Amino acid sequence: MQIVTGKTDSVPASVAATADWQQALKSAVREPDELIDRLQLPARYLAPARQAAREFPVFAPLDFIRRMEPGNPHDPLLRQVLPLDLELSPGEKDRKDPLEEASAIQTPGLLQKYAGRALLIAAGACAIHCRYCFRRHFPYQEAPRSLAAWQPALQMLADDPSLDEVLLSGGDPLTLVDSQLGALMSQIAGIEHICRLRIHTRLPIVIPERVTDELLANLKGNRLTMFVVVHANHPAEIDDRVGVGLRRLLDQGITVLNQAVLLKGVNDSLDALVGLSRQLINLGVVPYYLHQLDHVAGASHFEVPVSQGRQLVKTMREHLPGYAVPRYVVEKPGGSSKEVIS
Ligand SMILES: *Cc1c(COP(=O)(O)O)cnc(C)c1O
Ligand code: SF4
Repeated sequence: MQIVTGKTDSVPASVAATADWQQALKSAVREPDELIDRLQLPARYLAPARQAAREFPVFAPLDFIRRMEPGNPHDPLLRQVLPLDLELSPGEKDRKDPLEEASAIQTPGLLQKYAGRALLIAAGACAIHCRYCFRRHFPYQEAPRSLAAWQPALQMLADDPSLDEVLLSGGDPLTLVDSQLGALMSQIAGIEHICRLRIHTRLPIVIPERVTDELLANLKGNRLTMFVVVHANHPAEIDDRVGVGLRRLLDQGITVLNQAVLLKGVNDSLDALVGLSRQLINLGVVPYYLHQLDHVAGASHFEVPVSQGRQLVKTMREHLPGYAVPRYVVEKPGGSSKEVIS
């Protein structure tokens, strides 16, 4: 696998790199047995993993798996992708659509909840399946997947001059190939009242090769002010290669923000949260949000009580520069913004 470094500038990197990230998606682990085998976990993890994977399949790229510690069932990266028996006994507050997103769908693929900004479901697929995902039951198969199918959503954006920002989300919009993403972005840039484009993606964290030259050219290649919001929950997710990819985005003048979810067994400790913020700010990435977990069916074992979260964030503030402490937020169905807890 080719490592994305400054050196790739001297070779036809975009071609090689494109093949690399797509290859990394193809070779991702999809079978619970393989995940358990690669991590050398005890056999008792097999049966529950197989059962829970029927509800939401395993999907974990090898690159992400390599950052885990073999033999450790409590590895914070593994916890994010390994189906556990805990998923099989849902909590009473759990719902399949915890944020009532179904009611915010304006037209297929377009969600608007907040003033001024609308969210386009640009892709149904993700580069990783996070067990805590609030969209794990989202009806992605109903979302548009081609330029033609996005037209009604683009038309709605064009018809509403109160919007000045478009969010590309999903799924993960960077699972689209660069040519398709570029075409979508230039259509959005063609809408006069849109000033900013925000891409919500976990791909630069999961498969750093995704930050191809072609992607950078696309992001630079139109008049919109670009924001990329990545998603890392634990400092061990950000290795050197991830750092290089994030730097490549920053070097283009793109603002890069991170959002994390507060997760029991993953980052519910001062060490993990402070370590994550330090890794991010050392690269120049701003910790934006720390999300309280949504009540999605099958994920209640990740829940950290708000009182504990508040205490953690308060203590973070004693250890970090002010800009390194993310806003701790919760999303309430029907709210006019995310609600800041701390
Ligand atoms: C979270 C979210 C946004 C973005 O909210 P910000 O507070 O601006 O980051 C926009 N639209 C939808 C539907 C969202 O869920
Ligand atoms: S990458 Fe984001 S949308 Fe995809 S499974 Fe993970 S949390 Fe959910």
